[in-house]
Amino acid sequence: MKMLIMGAPGSGKGTQSEILVEKLGIPTISTGAMLRAAIAEGTEVGKEASKYINDGKLVPDSVMIDLVLDRVAKDDCRDGYILDGFPRTLAQAEAMTEANIDIDCALMIDVADEDIIARIGGRRVCSKCGATYHTKFKPSSKGDDCEQCGGKLEIRADDAPETVVSRLETYHNMTAPVIDYYDKMGKLVAVKAVEGVEETTELVLKALGK
Ligand code: AMP
Repeated sequence: MKMLIMGAPGSGKGTQSEILVEKLGIPTISTGAMLRAAIAEGTEVGKEASKYINDGKLVPDSVMIDLVLDRVAKDDCRDGYILDGFPRTLAQAEAMTEANIDIDCALMIDVADEDIIARIGGRRVCSKCGATYHTKFKPSSKGDDCEQCGGKLEIRADDAPETVVSRLETYHNMTAPVIDYYDKMGKLVAVKAVEGVEETTELVLKALGK
């Protein structure tokens, strides 16, 4: 099963893909998490990516395509994977098709723009392992610490309100053609997000026929 999860920033796609990993038994590859790890490690990719991420802009296609094609060639992706946050441009989607990567399903989590701002305000991420939480929808049972590794939870640098507006604009301009691309291929499965994480997961599993 090779699956994509698409949706605006803050739509809950990261949270849903973390849950689907358990349900489907395949790894999730979050390009945003990979880039944040690269920035924290100070790698060349991280240095390049930080120029764009903090302004709410997309990292260039050339960087992203190499990063993802290398990652999906790894052993743990043999039986499939969930791509969270890739492809985000038509060029990225076309690069996957050209690399003969046949996607089974492109899941799109739909949230209205006005709800996105409120959702992002409550988002927290573990500074150590990158696990995601939400003060209202998915609070950590350990308060300000990560349930999984005990790391401190923090607000993502690119979740500042002015950056979110720019990320939403980028999403609508650059990612809408990607949604169309998979729709025309007959691969698009759209789910309207509801308030609760578990309720949204139920809708997602139903839409996937699981
Ligand atoms: P995310 O965690 O998916 O919201 O991604 C955080 C940021 O990483 C985005 O706002 C982009 O700047 C960058 N990013 C993640 N995935 C991609 C991608 N496929 N193409 C370009 N930039 C990306």
